[in-house]
Amino acid sequence: MTHLLEVENLEVRFALRFGDLTAIDDISFHLDKKEKLGIVGESGAGKSVTGFAIINLLSKPGYIAGGRIRFEGREISRLSAEALRQIRGNRISMIFQDPMMTLNPVLTIGTQMVETVLAHRRVGKAEARALALEKLRKVYIPSPEKRLDQYPHEMSGGMRQRIVIAIALLTDPALIIADEPTTALDVTIQAGIMELLTELCETEEMGLILITHDLAVVSQVTERIAVMYAGRIIETGYTADIVAHPRHPYTIGLINSLPGLRQAGSRLEQIPGMMPNLTAIPAGCAFHPRCFLATPECRAARPELVAVNGGRQWAACHRLELTAGRNLLHH
Ligand code: SF4
Repeated sequence: MTHLLEVENLEVRFALRFGDLTAIDDISFHLDKKEKLGIVGESGAGKSVTGFAIINLLSKPGYIAGGRIRFEGREISRLSAEALRQIRGNRISMIFQDPMMTLNPVLTIGTQMVETVLAHRRVGKAEARALALEKLRKVYIPSPEKRLDQYPHEMSGGMRQRIVIAIALLTDPALIIADEPTTALDVTIQAGIMELLTELCETEEMGLILITHDLAVVSQVTERIAVMYAGRIIETGYTADIVAHPRHPYTIGLINSLPGLRQAGSRLEQIPGMMPNLTAIPAGCAFHPRCFLATPECRAARPELVAVNGGRQWAACHRLELTAGRNLLHH
């Protein structure tokens, strides 16, 4: 079966003066139409680099060093710049944390939307404006005619993010990559944006990759999760399974640090230490300096992903026997 997106053994490196650093180390995942995948981890885990690699927007000195990225059955990691432009911002759209990264502050919303349509379709200005209005309605912007004549600064953060989503929809994308799309917004606004993205996946038959540090948001929105640590996927599977029975100590730590997800009665804890810098990724299991289960084996050998929970979940840890069946959310 051909998936909407297939990422296979992707490797991203940064070419630096003193040598190459591996930022993404052999990760694989796939996504289908209408499906929502969460890529989760702390800052520096490699989540955003993964998103940029998919649309080949890695800024120098980053480059794809290995692996394959297939989108709608076509290998896209080695396409020419022109062929990629056709896909990027056309069939694949990216939404960022700060809407002002996408919006031009000195142009009206209408001008920006019409220009986007004209760049991608052979239509006249009136038709482009009508399409802009249609997409603004789709993201529940009140008084859309009035909004077309306004500038970004005349709107709230939540409204601006809806406009960005409407712009992303102008080209009828099959895949949206949303990088921390609600992190800069109030909690009440966040829920509305996530609901909107979920609804659009269904009605527009799009796939969604939600990149975030917030496991709570991911647990509400996505069907599957990939948890990243130091450039690798260390646990992946169905969201409901992973949230209920995390098997990797890092995922357990992430859940324990969330008031909404940890089990009643358990202590709220932070994972000790910090995500390692790319220049100093520990040998063996990269998580070992922070892990409450680490042994000498963990320091010596890197664990690979293995299937657990009847193949519904995959985790990379030497001590999975200890995280099975027992509730380490209370460790
Ligand atoms: Fe912890 Fe060892 Fe598992 Fe790594 S391999 S997560 S250090 S128990």
